[in-house]
Amino acid sequence: DERLILQFQITLYGDDERLVMARDITRLHRLEQMRRDFVANVSHELRTPLTVLTGYLETFGSYLAHDNAASLPPRMARGVDLMQEQTTRMQNLVNDLLLLSRLEIDQGGEDHVRLVIPDLLESVRRDAEALSGGRQRIVVEIDEPGDLIGSEQEIRSAVSNLVYNAVRYAGEGRCITLRWTSHLHGACLEVADDGEGIDPVHLPRLTERFYRVDKGRSTATGGTGLGLAIVKHVLLRHDARLQIDSRPGRGATFRCLFPAARLHRSATEARPARQ
Ligand code: ADP
Repeated sequence: DERLILQFQITLYGDDERLVMARDITRLHRLEQMRRDFVANVSHELRTPLTVLTGYLETFGSYLAHDNAASLPPRMARGVDLMQEQTTRMQNLVNDLLLLSRLEIDQGGEDHVRLVIPDLLESVRRDAEALSGGRQRIVVEIDEPGDLIGSEQEIRSAVSNLVYNAVRYAGEGRCITLRWTSHLHGACLEVADDGEGIDPVHLPRLTERFYRVDKGRSTATGGTGLGLAIVKHVLLRHDARLQIDSRPGRGATFRCLFPAARLHRSATEARPARQ
């Protein structure tokens, strides 16, 4: 590929002066491509050995569960539990890396459908409630039922990531709200909690891969460190953006802002198609 990739920066000075700067970013672009391919290939190659490992560990685990645990020293039986736990973590990580690579590489758009927001939010809420095990109150608030044009799988995964984070980080007895508000210029899908919140210094870097506020805590809660990076990429593919608002002790609010072109309103439906 012999293409040259240039980045232009135009600065205006007064009414009639302009400074145009061109930067050759071909090498940078190639390196970025190589990084993406490398991550995608490694994640793909790790899948098979991990599937074999989990398969055998499951067989071994159920053998132990059927009264055979006594034949093993307790430390070894505990070791099997730990191996199962860690391979599950590795599988989650590999799946998230693969998903992120796909989001970066694919153009997307082929699977876009009309998503019925109340149904989608209600189904995410039910799954989150199972994860929370009654430790939090999870509610859905919709100002005006609307539909969104997008990929069901991707939007569901973005909203689930936000809600699962709230379940994992907000703390016990807190309230989590999934809120949908639409207006003339677009819509906002919001996941808010009244938990511990995040120090504002972390906010600009929160969507970076593997960026965590408290590494120890995130690992203990089973996160991969890729959740918000996935959310950001899903939104980019839907011409939307993520806005994070939080203060320590005051909870955290994650807003997905969609442009009007992504909405399906019954009023627009009735109008004749544009020529
Ligand atoms: P992780 O797998 O670590 O959860 P994410 O990318 O999903 O990775 O989130 C990045 C970090 O943002 C988390 O480690 C956590 O410190 C912080 N975070 C995310 N959501 C919340 C929330 N609702 N309340 C407090 N902290 C949060």
